[in-house]
Amino acid sequence: MDCLTLELREYGRDAIGFAFRQTLLPIEKGMFQTPKEFLMNTFETLFNGLGERKGRVISLQSALTAFRALGPENGGQGEIEKTQYIANCLTNCGVRDIVHLDKEDFRVESKLRPNLLVRIPGHSKKTLWLFGHTDVVPPGDINAWASDPWQVRCDGDFLYGRGVEDNQQAIVSMILLAEELNIHHITPDLSLGLVFMSDEETGSAYGLRHILSSAASVFQKDDLYIVPDSGSACGDEIEIAEKGQLWLKIRVTGVQCHASTPQKGRNAFLASSALVLACHECLHSTFDTEENLFSPPHSTFVPSRHDANVPNINTIPGEDVFYMDCRLLPQITPENVLKRLHEVAADIERQYDVHVNVTIVQEQQASSMPSSSCVVSLLQDAVAHVYGVNARPVGIGGATVAAFLRDKGLSAAVWSCIEGSCHSPNEHSSIVSTINDARVFAHILMQNHV
Ligand SMILES: [Zn+2]
Repeated sequence: MDCLTLELREYGRDAIGFAFRQTLLPIEKGMFQTPKEFLMNTFETLFNGLGERKGRVISLQSALTAFRALGPENGGQGEIEKTQYIANCLTNCGVRDIVHLDKEDFRVESKLRPNLLVRIPGHSKKTLWLFGHTDVVPPGDINAWASDPWQVRCDGDFLYGRGVEDNQQAIVSMILLAEELNIHHITPDLSLGLVFMSDEETGSAYGLRHILSSAASVFQKDDLYIVPDSGSACGDEIEIAEKGQLWLKIRVTGVQCHASTPQKGRNAFLASSALVLACHECLHSTFDTEENLFSPPHSTFVPSRHDANVPNINTIPGEDVFYMDCRLLPQITPENVLKRLHEVAADIERQYDVHVNVTIVQEQQASSMPSSSCVVSLLQDAVAHVYGVNARPVGIGGATVAAFLRDKGLSAAVWSCIEGSCHSPNEHSSIVSTINDARVFAHILMQNHV
């Protein structure tokens, strides 16, 4: 059958017209494609092509996991080799615009914490940005793992290994999308921006915060931002808000003495125990506002870590240290929480004749974006198409790097379809979801102007 090659200049809005000028469109004799059908077919090509890449998901996950990309705080050498591997994958599939935005870090042998800013031009300058972090957390109790955390194990649709879900599912779907565009010689409708960043698990000073301070101008207000680093098991949650974080260290000082004569000392452990319970009751009842966007809908105040005090049983400790993890709804300020905590602490000081010192270990403002943002409705359409579910906007207590983007006035949504095994032993990731996440991104990339 003969093929006609047509250049269809006259069609459609700018982007679509441009798509036709760029692509010499082969059309079988007697057939006719409207611009919309052409773009739909291009998406279908991507959609179907991604479905053939299960083997690639396994090989990428296996290679990425083996790099053991732990930050220096976790006893590792960082992300340099893993990031170079990702850069090679992208170079091999024809990506030319790869900018290295590394940050010096003398704690690792390479002296660098690597970041990549990758761009694949589309017909429109408007860019869909996807963010993946390359660092992972330590495996924790090795005996709790059914297999070697650094060697990917495949069982049915699931891959097991440290990092496969957090955040390699995102990294793999980003690479798959770039490779698939290349295989089919597709110039996407929107431009695609891929950011691979280090140091997410330990504060992002060498990762996204560094990227935003050194290359802020590449991120435009009307671009689309998705951070695939949290989500639900069926893909129906789009995170648009995060509670504020306030981590506190609380030191209670009394007087040490022999345990047989407690009247001679002032038991710091006893006083700090009373303080834990008083905080639990007072903070929850004082800050009891609820907001249904979040789960749980209220602020949380959780005593978590407790430092060792005396090593022996027959000594009353003169000092006791514990920590609290507070997650605050956006309308609750850290200042007000601290003020209430100091009032509670003053009562305990009087009652137990001890001294209480409160220091802030970490503080991060709550962050949110409007649920009416373009990226939310595009995600909803794409998720409905690929996963067949209605995704709703939610708020979480956890923190992602979306907060840094929102802080710059960029509407970043957090979405992925994940099992929720991040940081756990036997962390796992679905091969099908990895492919479907890439399809969701493809849907947004190819259909924004349709
Ligand atoms: Zn993560």
